[in-house]
Amino acid sequence: MIVGSGAGGGMTANILAKAGLNIAIIEAGPYFDPADPEQRTQLRWPWESPRRGASTLRSFGDFHAGLSGWQIPGEPYDTVGDTKFDWWRTRVLGGRTNHWGRISLRFGPDDFHRKDIDGLGENWPIGYDDMKPYYDRLDKMVGVFGTNEGLANDPDGYFLPPPKPRLHELMAVKGATKAGIPMIPGRLSMVTKRINKDRGVCFYCGQCSRACSVYADFSAGTVLIFPAMKNAKEGKGGQVDLYVNSMAREVITDGTGKATAVSYISKDDRREYQIKGKVIVLAASACETSRLLMNSQAPGQTNGLGNGSGTLGRYLHDSTGAGTSAFIPSLMNRDRYNEDGVGGMHIYAPWWGKGRKLDFPRGYHLEVYGGMGMPSYGFGGGHKAIQKMMGYKAGGYGNPLMKDVRAHYGAVVGFAGRGEAVALYDNYCEVDPGKVDEWGIPTLRFHYKWSDHERLQAKHMHESIREILTGMGGQLFDPDIPTYENDHGLLSPGAIIHEVGTARMHDDPKQGVTNRHSALHEVPNVYLTDASVFTSQADKNPTWTIMALAMRAADHIISERKKMNI
Ligand SMILES: Cc1cc2nc3c(=O)[nH]c(=O)nc-3n(C[C@H](O)[C@H](O)[C@H](O)COP(=O)(O)OP(=O)(O)OC[C@H]3O[C@@H](n4cnc5c(N)ncnc54)[C@H](O)[C@@H]3O)c2cc1C
Ligand code: SF4
Repeated sequence: MIVGSGAGGGMTANILAKAGLNIAIIEAGPYFDPADPEQRTQLRWPWESPRRGASTLRSFGDFHAGLSGWQIPGEPYDTVGDTKFDWWRTRVLGGRTNHWGRISLRFGPDDFHRKDIDGLGENWPIGYDDMKPYYDRLDKMVGVFGTNEGLANDPDGYFLPPPKPRLHELMAVKGATKAGIPMIPGRLSMVTKRINKDRGVCFYCGQCSRACSVYADFSAGTVLIFPAMKNAKEGKGGQVDLYVNSMAREVITDGTGKATAVSYISKDDRREYQIKGKVIVLAASACETSRLLMNSQAPGQTNGLGNGSGTLGRYLHDSTGAGTSAFIPSLMNRDRYNEDGVGGMHIYAPWWGKGRKLDFPRGYHLEVYGGMGMPSYGFGGGHKAIQKMMGYKAGGYGNPLMKDVRAHYGAVVGFAGRGEAVALYDNYCEVDPGKVDEWGIPTLRFHYKWSDHERLQAKHMHESIREILTGMGGQLFDPDIPTYENDHGLLSPGAIIHEVGTARMHDDPKQGVTNRHSALHEVPNVYLTDASVFTSQADKNPTWTIMALAMRAADHIISERKKMNI
């Protein structure tokens, strides 16, 4: 029984089904196949949307594959006091992997034992050596492009050829080199070379956020769940029963505290059902998984299932995020040509600061954006901002406006820093007393504050980014670095959509919710295969590690089943 079909649930389902186990997947959202002409948003023209692709129903634009987003009607959440927490939820088969950025970075050896290095937070109970075989398997199975650079904490892998840098990216490398910041080819999970018969090869349309109709980018539905279902049909794997539009409510246990089933509300008839399972896997995304555990009980476990440590919901943390952009005059009036590329950056700067004297503990990496992608509703942060910077009168119409737009199009380049926050006990989610969603399921509320570790890191991000952009000859849209009082420009917690923790992995059952195999200490037949188990985030995006951990947990389930332990 698997709850959730995103990165973690999809990977668990694929590995277990391939091993011949019969599985059921409960997914809160509808069925989705980006190859279905009825559902496809890739390669739609701007005029096929009432607002040229701008948001009406979806948070990131009408062509974005992210159904739902920052708010889901009927499924609220809350924040406490002056907490600002943004919670992105995508309710659809494949979850957020339909539209994620596909930046696929393994953690490095240091990332599993940061406490040993700076005395803050907690070490993971496992190390890079435990994870390396899974990262290797994942690279080969899913496909990721990049280059082996021999960097100590950004390990080499099994990479497909990376796409060439585009003009703005070549300029970014120059600006970064001047600033002493090395940039390398990006590491993203779009297949640039054929890896199997089920998936096509990237043809560089730049629209991965719409989900790829030839399955060349990684989405859990197209790359993990569809093949598992196809195998089952051909008798090559275990049976896969998919229950979409089904919102899991709680894990059911028997008198001995063993999990036996999951109850769910069908969004089609609004009735409650149960599905039994010998092993229950929760992969509903970090906070949804904790919510399910908080809403479940067993004899002697009335404070949430598996919460003997009292840490369920705790140590929630998101990547830090800050950035800015500049207008690059030398990119004005460019010839028109197709430089779409993949739907993401072709180069990036992994953390370069190890061993330097810094006033903050953890690192970050830099992501670059810009170029002449398919125009939609507005570009470059809004044309009026560019006109203002150039000293022109803002606005206009007709031929003069068209001339201006043509001149400025593709001349804005920006950088975003994505860094590691320190996981703190006091940053947490909990059930909001007395509040339920439209399905009658108790909702969550959040408590979260940034500390100076993150604020000072954001200041450093701004300094580095500004140095690169001005080194490229850029004119900054925001010349002043946001003040300390404004968190040095840090986006709200949750806004980077890399939320991890809340049921952390720890060898000591008093200090964590799961063991090193991602199973609950107190209920060994319940596994968590999303980011809830992260002891700490790294200066990397989390999803490659979610999937490697899910693979590892699935292997453990198979071996425990063989030993008849669960
Ligand atoms: C715009 C965007 C860009 C991103 N870019 C990157 C990136 O470049 N690199 C990176 O590493 N990460 C990125 N991320 C984050 C990445 O998408 C997540 O880390 C990853 O998808 C998490 O996987 P998951 O399986 O835990 O959750 P999800 O992918 O969110 O899947 C969870 C699934 O569970 C279902 N579900 C939830 N609750 C229930 C319930 N009660 N019952 C049944 N089903 C339920 C949901 O409908 C969903 O389908 C990005 C995210 C977004 C939104
Ligand atoms: S850029 Fe490549 S992988 Fe992404 S949607 Fe287009 S063809 Fe598919």
